Amino acid sequence: MTPVVMKFGGTSVATIGKMQKAARFIRQAVDDNTPVIAVVSAMAGETNRLAELVRSVSSVFDAREYDNVLATGENVTSALLALILQTMGVSARSWQGWQVPVRTSSVHGAARILDIERDRLDARFADGMEVAVIAGFQGVSSDGRITTLGRGGSDLTAVAFAAAFDRARCMIYTDVDGVFTADPRVVKTARKLEHISYEEMLELASLGSKVLQTRSVELAMRHRVPVHVLSSYTGQPGTYVTDEETHMETRTISGIAHSRDEAKVTLQSVADRPGIAALIFTALANHDINVDMIVQNIAEDKRTDITFSCPVEDIAKARSAIELLQGRGDLNVAGLLCDESVCKVSVVGIGMRTQSGIAAKMFAALGREGINIKVISTSEIKISVLVDRKYMELAVRTLHEEFGLHQK
Ligand code: ADP
Ligand code: ASP
Ligand code: MG
Repeated sequence: MTPVVMKFGGTSVATIGKMQKAARFIRQAVDDNTPVIAVVSAMAGETNRLAELVRSVSSVFDAREYDNVLATGENVTSALLALILQTMGVSARSWQGWQVPVRTSSVHGAARILDIERDRLDARFADGMEVAVIAGFQGVSSDGRITTLGRGGSDLTAVAFAAAFDRARCMIYTDVDGVFTADPRVVKTARKLEHISYEEMLELASLGSKVLQTRSVELAMRHRVPVHVLSSYTGQPGTYVTDEETHMETRTISGIAHSRDEAKVTLQSVADRPGIAALIFTALANHDINVDMIVQNIAEDKRTDITFSCPVEDIAKARSAIELLQGRGDLNVAGLLCDESVCKVSVVGIGMRTQSGIAAKMFAALGREGINIKVISTSEIKISVLVDRKYMELAVRTLHEEFGLHQK
C-alpha cells in the first residue's frame, strides 16, 4: 500500500500542544488504513538558535560540526512526536536520517539527497501500521557524517520520501492555508490558489516565496510527486502543486514574489573585450557567490559598465573577489559601486507565454507609485525588478492590485 507523507514545519511543531494537533492528523490517516511517513522540522526558532550557538563558540567555520549541531533540532521533534503518537495509542517510531538511511552528498550545509533506502521502513510497514516519524533536513554522507540539506530542507526530505515511496502524496502542513498570490503576511488581500503548476511554484520559490523550499519543488517536478500545501491549524484543503495541464484555472499571472535582502554591484568602465566577463564571473563563482541578475551596458570607447546582483550576505565576499582581480592588475575598473539596500520583486505566471504587455503594465504601475527600477530581468514566465528595499511592501501590494490578484 502506498503511504502518505505528512510534513510538519517549525511553527506546526512549535509546542507540545501543536505536536498533539499534528499527531491527530496522523491518527486520522492511520485510522483510514494508510501507512504514514511523517517528516518533521525543528521547533520554530530552534535551528536559528542552534546556528547562533555554533557561531558563539567558533569563528572557524567547520561545516561538519555545524551540521551535527543543527540536525539535533529535528531529532528532538521526531522523538517527541513519536512519543505523543504512542500515548494516543498509535504505534510510532522516530528515525534520524542516518538510521533510514537518507544518503546524501558530503556538501555540508547544502547536501543533496542521493538515495533513500526503503528496506527498513518497508519491513516496519509490512509488520503493521507503525508510523515512521522522520527527522527532516538531515542525512548521512558516504563517510558516515551527519549532513543537513540547507535551510527549509525538511520540505526536500518530505518530497524525497514521497518520490522514493512510489510517488506518494506529499502533504506539507504549514502556518498558512496554502500557496497565496503573494506572501499573506505582506498582502492582507492575497488569495489562496487552489492549484499551481510545478513550474510557477518553482519560480515563486526561487524568487523568495519560502512557503516551499526551491529544491523541494525541483525534485517534486522531476518525479511528478503530487504536493499539497495546507494549514496545520485547520487541515482544510490548501493548494495542489501539480502538472500545468491538470488544472483549468486560466490566469495570466499567478503570484507576486519578493526577496528582501538583495545587493547590487556595479563595476564601472570595464574593458570591453572578449574574456572580461568570464574573468569576473569565474572569480565570483570561485568565491561561492550566488550571482543572480547580470546587466552589461552598451560600450563606449571600448569600455562598459557591468552590474550584477547577489544576496546581501555575499557582498563582502563579492567585493574582495573583485578587489583581488583589480589588485593583480587583471581588471582595470574605474570604480566599484555596492548598493546593499535593494530588494527583488517579481511577477510570475505561465500565461505570460501567450500574453504580451505584462512588462509594460508592471513598469507603469511601479512608475505611478514613484518606485524607481534599478535592474530588470525576465524569463519566459517571470519578470523581476530590483528596487529600493524601502519600497518593497508598496511594490508588492501595487503589483498585486494591478494584476487583479486580490480576493474577489
Ligand atoms: P514552515 O515552518 O511550515 O516550513 P515557512 O515559514 O518555511 O513554514 O513557510 C511558510 C511561510 O511562507 C508563511 O508563513 C508565509 O509568510 C511565507 N510565504 C511567502 N510567500 C508565500 C506565498 N506566496 N504563499 C504562502 N505563504 C508564503
Ligand atoms: N529546521 C530547518 C530550518 O529551519 C529545516 C526546516 O525547517 O525545513 O531551516
Ligand atoms: Mg519552510
